[in-house]
Amino acid sequence: MNGAKNRDPQARDIIAGDRQHVWHPFTQHGTEGEPTVIVRAKGASLFDAGGKEILDLVSSWWTCTHGHTHPRLNEALAKQADQFEHVMFAGFTHAPAVTLAESLARLLPGDLSRVFFSDDGSTSVEVALKIAYQYWINRGEPQRTMLLAFDGGYHGDTLGAMSVGRGSQMFSPFRDLMCKVCVLPYPSTFEGDEAVEEREAGALSAFEALLADRGQTIAALIIEPLLQGAGGMRVCRPHFLKRLVETAQAAGVIVIFDEVLTGFGRTGTLFALQQAGVVPDLVCLSKGLTSGYMPLAVTVAREAIFEAFLGDSFDRALPHGHSFTANPLACAVALRSLDLFEEEQTLERIAAINARHRATLVELQTRPDVTRPRVLGSILAFDVKGLGAYQSEESRALKAWFLAQGLNIRPLGSTLYLMPPYCITGDELSRAYAGLIAGLDTLTG
Ligand code: PLP
Repeated sequence: MNGAKNRDPQARDIIAGDRQHVWHPFTQHGTEGEPTVIVRAKGASLFDAGGKEILDLVSSWWTCTHGHTHPRLNEALAKQADQFEHVMFAGFTHAPAVTLAESLARLLPGDLSRVFFSDDGSTSVEVALKIAYQYWINRGEPQRTMLLAFDGGYHGDTLGAMSVGRGSQMFSPFRDLMCKVCVLPYPSTFEGDEAVEEREAGALSAFEALLADRGQTIAALIIEPLLQGAGGMRVCRPHFLKRLVETAQAAGVIVIFDEVLTGFGRTGTLFALQQAGVVPDLVCLSKGLTSGYMPLAVTVAREAIFEAFLGDSFDRALPHGHSFTANPLACAVALRSLDLFEEEQTLERIAAINARHRATLVELQTRPDVTRPRVLGSILAFDVKGLGAYQSEESRALKAWFLAQGLNIRPLGSTLYLMPPYCITGDELSRAYAGLIAGLDTLTG
């Protein structure tokens, strides 16, 4: 497998070294084939060691927004590297972090204006959970310890994030290490769904029943707004999200929006929360924050949450931080990436991708093997009859087939999806759709 691309002698050395010394994420090394050696990337494409172009239709794990090796982002990175690359962030501060915090506070609604920096999606979720938990201790209500999460939700791979992602069924070996979480039903929907209102009402009444029963013990609720990514690109309606947030906030429950995936345009607006017209209490952002260039994350809190941590003693302060908190290189790239949304009219680009996805959906819906079609912002997803569980034999074979066609498309269980960088051209999209449909044909024989 992958013979042609890895014939290059330098690539062979890299693979030999990889085989001997590297432990890859989400990988069963006992069965996995050779990895693809990437030597260059541009726009929506990656290039392997044999010079083969691979369209990056998962945006490198949903991180890449404006496109690979964007000249403006490269410039911002180099310019900051010439000034200073890093400084500890306790007792020190710098313009890239402060300007980025100001920009995010301006872009987010209401008083979501206090920015805590960390490194990646999981750490931004850990920070949010710790803030929510300690908030109630600081407020004199230490009995509020229960966390609520949604069936099928995913929030990262560290312990707290795994606990609230237990509904994804990904973390069974670690069950005993997890903290107390109650999992609510998620009203996943799709184009033409006629039973959605019933499912939404069911989810809301489960939540209301829990509030009536144990409301005073609940610290926070966490949700991926509009889109559960790793759970299988499962969407919910803005209307549901709005009702959920209103109900939670009326009961004093802290609402955490995990916008690690949905932030920075993925769902068609800069943030998914805009579509529901709500102001959550904490928002987690990462991935597209730096257009996928650098590991950086933020947890943004409403001012009233921050104020609960003020006082004369360190006991009330948040005892959390990372070596690379607010890394200046990453902040400089994030700032430039935000400007690009205006300069390149990125939201219009996303709307154009969305229109192409919708047109393709019409064709896909005629196929008997395609079910539960959905389009949200720059994302096209659907389920495939007969495609097995995560990492099943068929899904691994299909992934390899796509790669051989020059397409990075990774099935998520029985779900196939496209999530391209926003710079993808019309021709590249046509190639992606044609490949996707041809891939489906290989399954039906
Ligand atoms: N939250 C969501 C919604 C995600 O999709 C992910 C990763 O896919 C994470 C959190 C974890 O982010 P990271 O992999 O950067 O730790």
